[in-house]
Amino acid sequence: MPQYTDSLRGYALRTHRRDGWKCVYCGLDGRESFSSWLSLSEEHLLPKGHPLRDDPRFIVTACAFCNVADNQYFSKAQGRGIGLEDKTPEELIALRKPYVTETRDSYRTFWERHVRGEKGMRS
Ligand SMILES: [Zn+2]
Repeated sequence: MPQYTDSLRGYALRTHRRDGWKCVYCGLDGRESFSSWLSLSEEHLLPKGHPLRDDPRFIVTACAFCNVADNQYFSKAQGRGIGLEDKTPEELIALRKPYVTETRDSYRTFWERHVRGEKGMRS
């Protein structure tokens, strides 16, 4: 296989394969469709400056939406009473998941009300 320098075909490939091509938050499966695969990304479970931030165990597969769904997560963590120290990757995912899910659910409600079923102007 040729060497790619981009995320999907290059440096994130090992992460995505390890995680079964699924977003750790919503379960989107990159094998289901080309579009799904295109939306996969890598997510850091620890903030900038943390000594383990770039440790591969603390970098996981997330879809584009879940990756940014709670993008102030690290700065809000302390106020929410969430400690990021001495946690396993699985524990860090479990701590963050409710916030990602809450944002996702509010987007779903919006989608159901304003997007789904809308007649496109160009169709
Ligand atoms: Zn997701």
